[in-house]
Amino acid sequence: MEYSLIIFDADGTLRYCTVEGQPCPNRAGEWELYPDVIKKLAPFDWTHPGEESGVGYGIASNQGGVGVGYFSEDTAMQLLEDTFREAFGFSPAEGTIKMCPHVPHTGCGCRKPDPAMLNNLMKLYGEPAERVLFVGDRDADRNAALNAGCDFQWASEFFNRDPE
Ligand SMILES: [Mg+2]
Ligand SMILES: [Zn+2]
Repeated sequence: MEYSLIIFDADGTLRYCTVEGQPCPNRAGEWELYPDVIKKLAPFDWTHPGEESGVGYGIASNQGGVGVGYFSEDTAMQLLEDTFREAFGFSPAEGTIKMCPHVPHTGCGCRKPDPAMLNNLMKLYGEPAERVLFVGDRDADRNAALNAGCDFQWASEFFNRDPE
């Protein structure tokens, strides 16, 4: 299947937290890319929203630590942008990084498994769900893809990585 848009989860998919016992990075210096990420992403002809050919890209990340007060929304977005730049080798276009900053179980409507972040990225690129893949590492990711109607692949499969 040739996809026109591939969306990635961040934590546990593109990057891991280097602080023991902490699930997600709270500040710069607390994360690293998985070693297979740059090599796997490099061959794609990534394209920005509004361009004709190539494959669109995006990130859809739950960042509940913002709502809990571990770090600010600005910091969370900065860390996601840094992660993207290191993984893809260029800066993400505006609107291509989606984040839910809300604590779980508040009915915010954007936290995965709700499909809003995926839907917004599909809308940004004008791509129908049939041509979209979401790559993630949690059941909430898989269910978000189901709810959005797009395909899903586990990060371990996409990156040929041993499941954790
Ligand atoms: Mg994850
Ligand atoms: Zn939310």
